[in-house]
Amino acid sequence: SGQSRPMRILQFVQSAAAPGDANSAICAVDSYCANVEWAMNVGDKKGQILDAVVLAVRPRWVLELGTYCGYSTMRIARLLPPGARLVTLEMNQHYAQVAKQILGHAGLDTQLSPSPAPHTQGEEPVGGATQSPQGRWRLQEALIYTTLHCLQLPLQLFSRPPQNPLSPFCPKATEETAERQPAKRSSACKVDLLVGASSALIPQLKKKFEMETFDLIFIDHWKASYLPDARLLEECGLLAPGTVLLADNVTCPGAPDYLQYVRNSPRYRSEYFPCQLEYLQVEDGMEKSVFLG
Ligand code: SAM
Ligand code: MG
Repeated sequence: SGQSRPMRILQFVQSAAAPGDANSAICAVDSYCANVEWAMNVGDKKGQILDAVVLAVRPRWVLELGTYCGYSTMRIARLLPPGARLVTLEMNQHYAQVAKQILGHAGLDTQLSPSPAPHTQGEEPVGGATQSPQGRWRLQEALIYTTLHCLQLPLQLFSRPPQNPLSPFCPKATEETAERQPAKRSSACKVDLLVGASSALIPQLKKKFEMETFDLIFIDHWKASYLPDARLLEECGLLAPGTVLLADNVTCPGAPDYLQYVRNSPRYRSEYFPCQLEYLQVEDGMEKSVFLG
């Protein structure tokens, strides 16, 4: 059933994308979210900046904060060489379960832990927001995203003609392609999807994966957590000289305290990439910060 937006995105991917083909799944999510329902994926325009950074860094260990439906996870994973590891953290159990299925459809080998209870119900991000210490921030963020979602309709009316989500931008995501292509694995890279709050999971990563430091970290969870989690990553010794932090949405919804920190700390060399918010003509930007040690 399609009772949540992530579930509706999953259903669209399953019906429109060729099984085992991450590019096709990415394209299907973009088509759906550009034309039917806005969603907080990094999207194709900023996704191309993400792709370029992944290709330039050639990371062996990647960390992602904020999985949602697994859109950016697919973008990163499909560009990683065999043997590379991608760890992605998501606090919302329902989103994590949807992401696991979308990644599975895309042919990406994904381990979800802890495994969900069999009867977990779907929830939207506003639910339970006030229970966490950052509840106020999460509520504010949900409000910003809701406002953006409401902006979608007038913006689409003025900026583009109505489109069938399956065409014309998504040649791979046609039913014909889905039938023709045999299921294949997109990548030998392994994805670990951990369910929990980043502040609780980050200190466990070294031991859990018997690893030293990450080469690339994509930061895209709630914006008030960018700075405390960057500091936590430093404290836990998970950054090495040369580790690249790429932070999404530093302009919209914005992460001013994080920007102020990475731009002024002598421990980072930081660079801004102006771009537009996913699926809308709203100004946004990504910040790429290299840890210097
Ligand atoms: N990176 C995804 C993409 O581009 O496809 C979008 C991620 S969405 C903007 C942010 C996600 O972070 C939400 O699913 C939310 O539940 C999750 N989240 C927020 N704060 C978190 C935290 N402290 N720890 C783990 N997940 C968090
Ligand atoms: Mg984002």
